[in-house]
Amino acid sequence: MKTINDIPELKDKNVLLRVDFDVPVRPDGTIQEPFRIKKQKEMIDWLADRGARVVLVAHSGDFDTFEPVLGQLEVLLDRQLGFLKTTEEIKPYLAAYDKVGFLDNIRNYPGEKDDDDAFARGLSDGFDLYVNNAFAVCHRGHASVSAITKYLPSFAGLLIEQETVRLQEAIDASSSGKIIIMGGAKASTKVPVIKHFMDKADVILVGGVIANDILKARGVDIDGSKADEDVMQLLQGLDLNSPKLVMPTDFNLSEGKILDMGPESIKKFDAVIAEAKYIIWNGPMGLFEDEKFAAGTDAVARAIVRSGALSVIGGGDTIAAVDRLELLSRFHFVSTGGGAMLAFLAGERMPGLESLGYYD
Ligand code: ADP
Ligand code: MG
Repeated sequence: MKTINDIPELKDKNVLLRVDFDVPVRPDGTIQEPFRIKKQKEMIDWLADRGARVVLVAHSGDFDTFEPVLGQLEVLLDRQLGFLKTTEEIKPYLAAYDKVGFLDNIRNYPGEKDDDDAFARGLSDGFDLYVNNAFAVCHRGHASVSAITKYLPSFAGLLIEQETVRLQEAIDASSSGKIIIMGGAKASTKVPVIKHFMDKADVILVGGVIANDILKARGVDIDGSKADEDVMQLLQGLDLNSPKLVMPTDFNLSEGKILDMGPESIKKFDAVIAEAKYIIWNGPMGLFEDEKFAAGTDAVARAIVRSGALSVIGGGDTIAAVDRLELLSRFHFVSTGGGAMLAFLAGERMPGLESLGYYD
């Protein structure tokens, strides 16, 4: 994989930099969790400091335009941005370049999700180089992470390098003393990670909706608790009775629904975490957005910090849960990837990495 250090000369080069600014925004318009945006600053500064003419390309899955949050982005990145409403504005902007440009939501173009060649070729027009620093979208075959690499010399940015190295370390680290903690929802993205780590970790602690799924598959009546459709199919190939799978045994219920784990389970999870040397965590243990059901998630976060183990965490909700306890800096590596981190940890081939030559 070619990285930014392989770029011979950056001065006055027109660089398309794919960044990831896909963050939750509160109803009042404020950015709820700026972690991903802050992680882009280093790469933008690095290119700008070397005299490159940079245009940022980003997507939002939640809203059409970045315009209302532009001011907040500028504060977080500590620089002014030239806002480009459409791709047509890119070429004239580069010709009269004076500061880092920022193209509005790339997902406004149907060609983006279709990984369309003609769209990617058009997007590449006027640029000399492409740098991908958007690890969190690398599990998608979208034009601005995949097809674009056919039309420009392409390089992995600092964040892609960092994420791939640190997550590969997490996979490769000796299984002795290594545990993974899986919670949250969207079991289809998490079960493959559990499967991949069955022989790569000592213990797999399971909470959240994934735990409900496993209970349901074991034939336990979970009443109206949230669970995924087709749990049996989803969990196929996973040994549900493996002693490595450690599950909550008591629960915090509301109207018959499991919304968090109970005090006995918290004690049990604490004891496992205290002994661990390497911990990988994704997914809250309960409905942490409601403080009444945050005890399991908070206990896990605090236990990891207390353990002194090497810790790798990721996932938008997991980061938000930890950040509200002001503990984010106490983890050794915080991945910007949610789905992308899970795909990587599951050992899947990721289109965005493939197009950078990662697997060559
Ligand atoms: P991440 O973004 O960290 O990968 P997910 O998106 O997979 O995490 O899951 C987080 C969501 O799962 C949160 O909104 C949380 O409230 C929800 N959740 C966890 N446990 C439960 C539960 N028992 N019942 C309902 N929702 C749950
Ligand atoms: Mg989430």
